[in-house]
Amino acid sequence: MKLAALGEVMVELAPQAVSQGSGQKALLAQSYAGDTYNTAVYIARGGVDVSYVTLLGEDPYSEEVLTRLASEGIDTSAIARLPGRCPGLYMIQNTADGERYFTYWRGEAPARELFADPARREVLRDYLRKMDCLYLSGITLAIMNPEARAELLVFLKEYRANGGRVAFDSNYRPRLWASAEAARSVVAEFLQQADMALLTFEDEQALWGDELPDSCIKRNGDFGVAELVIKRGAEPVLLQYQGDLVSVEVPAVSSVVDTTGAGDSFNAGYLAARLQGASPEDAIAAGNRCAARVIGHRGAIIPRADYFATDAS
Ligand code: ADP
Repeated sequence: MKLAALGEVMVELAPQAVSQGSGQKALLAQSYAGDTYNTAVYIARGGVDVSYVTLLGEDPYSEEVLTRLASEGIDTSAIARLPGRCPGLYMIQNTADGERYFTYWRGEAPARELFADPARREVLRDYLRKMDCLYLSGITLAIMNPEARAELLVFLKEYRANGGRVAFDSNYRPRLWASAEAARSVVAEFLQQADMALLTFEDEQALWGDELPDSCIKRNGDFGVAELVIKRGAEPVLLQYQGDLVSVEVPAVSSVVDTTGAGDSFNAGYLAARLQGASPEDAIAAGNRCAARVIGHRGAIIPRADYFATDAS
């Protein structure tokens, strides 16, 4: 089984409070993250063959992304490099009310050209046809140009007709879309090509105005989603599958340090388990376990040593 994740990985700058004598000085820790990238990393750690599909530049940060992907055993052979370009960047700010605020510089990111160049697209289509499963998100769709996105949609129809499976997380980020309506129409088209939808209820509420999960379940049923998983933080995960609605408890996590990447890592645990033959219920348990490891540490990508040291039972 092999999965390809499509999307964008960015350079991250996050504040670190460092004591300096009598005062405190804010330093920035530099790292790399992105929703589909985070998921790809944890799927690989879950023992499934993964390819990450994006575009990068030829700068040292792009080099480092490739090095990190390779160090996780992730196939980077489908990543194109654009000369003179560099990855997008975001900074995290700790606000006075204890929340985190994100500022992005990603308008020129090479990942925006995913599926855009006809020659490169042809090569990529041939490559993706060999995959058992493709994973993408609403962020992947939001950053693509509309013509490229339309090409991707056409490809997904062909891919599924030939037995490929598509997994999708809406990951709604209002700032990436011209309007909620624009996001809804694009997300709806892609959900109609999703075999597995791994959605976060909060995002669904923001995007569609759902008050209760029922309307989310009904809508995705109408879209033809066969396997619907709804994540709700510490609340039970909902599964709509083969006509049954099942609620799966989320085991308590004793010390939640940072929930960044919770949904992404859940998706990874879920998909790795499903691709290795687990039932959807068992895959949810695996998703919960993967997310529990990640939220017990700071950052979206926790060091391999910490990840594998955490009891997965
Ligand atoms: P997102 O990161 O997309 O906002 P959620 O907050 O719904 O996603 O969380 C995704 C998954 O992470 C949950 O289904 C659960 O497995 C785990 N999780 C998140 N918050 C908690 C928590 N407070 N305690 C235990 N597990 C959690």
